[in-house]
Amino acid sequence: MAKVTFFSGQQLPLEMHKVRIIQKLTLHPIEERRRAMAEAGYNTFLLQNADVFLDMLTDSGVNAMSDQQQAAMLIADDAYAGSATFTRLHRKLIEVFGMDWFLPTHQGRAAEHILAQALVQPGTFVPMNYHFTTSKAHVTARGGEVRELITAAGLEVTSDNQFKGNFDVAALRALIAEQGAEAIAYVRVEAGTNLIGGQPLSLANFRETTAVAREHGILTVLDASLLADNLHFNKTREEQCRDMTIPEITRAIADCFDVIYFSARKLGFGRGGGICIRDEALYKQMRGLVPMYEGFLTYGGMSVREMEAITVGLDETMDEDMINQGPQFIEHMVAELDARGIPVITPAGGLGAHLDAMRFLPHVPQQQYPAGALASALYIASGVRGMERGTLSEQRDANGVEPMANMELVRLALPRRVFTLSQVNYAIDRIGWLFEHRDLVGGLRFVEEPEILRFFYGRLEPIGGWVDELLAAFRADLADSL
Ligand SMILES: *Cc1c(COP(=O)(O)O)cnc(C)c1O
Repeated sequence: MAKVTFFSGQQLPLEMHKVRIIQKLTLHPIEERRRAMAEAGYNTFLLQNADVFLDMLTDSGVNAMSDQQQAAMLIADDAYAGSATFTRLHRKLIEVFGMDWFLPTHQGRAAEHILAQALVQPGTFVPMNYHFTTSKAHVTARGGEVRELITAAGLEVTSDNQFKGNFDVAALRALIAEQGAEAIAYVRVEAGTNLIGGQPLSLANFRETTAVAREHGILTVLDASLLADNLHFNKTREEQCRDMTIPEITRAIADCFDVIYFSARKLGFGRGGGICIRDEALYKQMRGLVPMYEGFLTYGGMSVREMEAITVGLDETMDEDMINQGPQFIEHMVAELDARGIPVITPAGGLGAHLDAMRFLPHVPQQQYPAGALASALYIASGVRGMERGTLSEQRDANGVEPMANMELVRLALPRRVFTLSQVNYAIDRIGWLFEHRDLVGGLRFVEEPEILRFFYGRLEPIGGWVDELLAAFRADLADSL
């Protein structure tokens, strides 16, 4: 990506790639979208992709591959054990992260499963800057306790702070003093923080946080699933990184950690995942879990084609012109929404634009899932599928009490290299219309609430007749358009 100044004076992101394979999309009329949303139980996870125009649910496993990745997939070496493809991936990871040992897994949460099995004992703590749904679920399933040690700025919806993902180092020291270093299974750092808007950490903060852990002999673990965006922000926002190359920044971050795991559905524009480990003894401690849950040690549930794509994708991740497309589109989207007075997380992060449903729909109480309601309303108004990241995405505690989320967000993820700027502008236009008619949008309630990870397949219904009113308003303003 480049950012180019047009003769109009406008500065806009400009794609530094061309599209050579396309996939046809359909945009159903609003009446159809309303029917599809009702069938999906007002849960955007349950929509059929054929009913979706722009899928901004996630950036997981849906990033566009390059011609180089596709070419590499053709020379993949099919073998159950000892494939040359695995060796190529392993070598690339050693080159990028500087860690000798690697365990492949079928995706990111499988890496979390293995780490939790090997390292989390009942009653231990896993401090992290912020949780991710699956990382928390695996720690708590083992009887461990997650402690969220994000700095106060991280939870401010609008801010000038360029590194809202920073770990609260003083809080980490306090936790160690309170519980003792032995009670801490590992320190988990997530770069950038998914659930609070893809917000990055500074290199300075990586260093400070892990230095405290090291001082007390505590293992340090990096969740690098969203590292590509973080690297772009280190390079563009942090003085000490300005003259460093992306590979140098990557290595400076990696050097802080004992373990790096990732979802290759995000990192490396691929599918799959894995765990890089510095210490051979720790590698051997975890190794047995791979053939038990994932696959043999040289594929771990991934296909050889996926592994070839990740290997090339890791190289592309080391190229600033390749990793800045997501952040620059998101910056454009956030700036345009902000200019219309639409409440959105600032500064723009990685991953996507995040609408603040608490301020978008101040009349919908948190118990009625404002972010879920907004995601439903947005799909109906536009065919754009976003993801609820709020109270619906929380789990009830052991007593059945429903905790209210710190933030009620609708995440509009921008998969890398997938959308064009006019598609992004369409989404901005429809969100703008919805904001002008926000009073019409009401809340949701559960019809069917699963016990575990309820946001994935829970079913809801609107409270009152607000969907009818929204549809009527849309038709009044746009009689004959989709
Ligand atoms: C997506 C994600 C995971 C889980 O990875 P999957 O491949 O979806 O299982 C873990 N951590 C973070 C930060 C993520 O964004």
